Amino acid sequence: MSAGKFLRKKYLDFWASFSIMDVEISEDRHMAKLFSCRDFGGECNWKCRAKTKEEILMKIAKHGIVKHNMREMSETMKEKIMATIRDVK
Ligand SMILES: [Zn+2]
Repeated sequence: MSAGKFLRKKYLDFWASFSIMDVEISEDRHMAKLFSCRDFGGECNWKCRAKTKEEILMKIAKHGIVKHNMREMSETMKEKIMATIRDVK
């Protein structure tokens, strides 16, 4: 399997692991979601913003795999990510 294919598969697995969670679909459209890798406890300055929880989880998943070689996603890790996502105006 090529590195690109491997990464894509990991990304999809990672994302799929979120879909079993209770992700709220109804969002206040005026609010945005903000995630900062530093808040998560790392030395990384990466931040991202998205309109919905689904969108930000996709971005976090991609970042985690690409920059942090995050191959496994434990329940604890997922909970921590969800807790780190902030609502901003
Ligand atoms: Zn990071």
